Amino acid sequence: MKTFKGKAIYQPAGKAKEYAEWACNFYVGCSNGCDYCYLKKGRGAAILGGNVPTLKKCFKDEVHALEVFEMELKANLPELQKHGLFFSFSTDPMLPETIAMTYQALVVCSKFKIPVKILTKVEKFIDLKIFEIDGNKGCSIFDLPNNAKCNIAFGFTLTGHDELEPGASTNQERIEAMKKLHDAGFKTFASIEPVIDFKSSIEMIVRTAGICDLLKIGLESGKKYDKNELFNFMNAVIFIARRTRKVYFKDSLLKAAWIERSELPANCVNRDYNIFKEL
Ligand code: SF4
Repeated sequence: MKTFKGKAIYQPAGKAKEYAEWACNFYVGCSNGCDYCYLKKGRGAAILGGNVPTLKKCFKDEVHALEVFEMELKANLPELQKHGLFFSFSTDPMLPETIAMTYQALVVCSKFKIPVKILTKVEKFIDLKIFEIDGNKGCSIFDLPNNAKCNIAFGFTLTGHDELEPGASTNQERIEAMKKLHDAGFKTFASIEPVIDFKSSIEMIVRTAGICDLLKIGLESGKKYDKNELFNFMNAVIFIARRTRKVYFKDSLLKAAWIERSELPANCVNRDYNIFKEL
């Protein structure tokens, strides 16, 4: 079947497809400044890898971008309601420059009952009162009704290495934000990717116990890991997460550990796992 490639909404291909069936990008570029940023590598780096988020050139302005978004969303409604929509692969959607569009898109998704997954390294957004809900201005993310909250999953990337992410909130601040969101009824996930070192990743997993529904774990592209250490790391993750959390190990991690997905225990899920269903 032909994949949909709109200006805002699209079906990712390649490695990104493992992370999300459907995604939305309004901006390119990101000010978090991560050393390992995938946007700064490869052929697209000149366009994608800027330090300042910039509205994609295919949009005249933010108003136009939102119109296009709503049109593309309506054209793919059943698929989006089934798979959800991920923000974003080409920027952090919760930066000061990007958050207004993300919030407006969230309201549209909520209206059409589309589950939303947001991945960020920013925590400051949770205090912002810039939402407009049912005509009321100055609302925060916590003012959303409960039936909207349970359809939004906030993911925080946690590496345990602030020095590699100089423009982002600290890992500790991200964990605190995760707790507040989880306590308020939002779904939460931790993106333990890239694994910089096993000890730091395990520490992030331990510190998110009780406030995180799903762990998504991936290695740093191109980096070599010791197979035995990787095996021990996986066993530790599975043990820590047993009973309370689902774990998704990315394909490349399983390949590096020489492990088949079918060999993993029940709390390890496939890429099509739906975080919005009960654990
Ligand atoms: S948050 Fe993501 S997009 Fe932004 S610099 Fe870091 S890796 Fe790149």
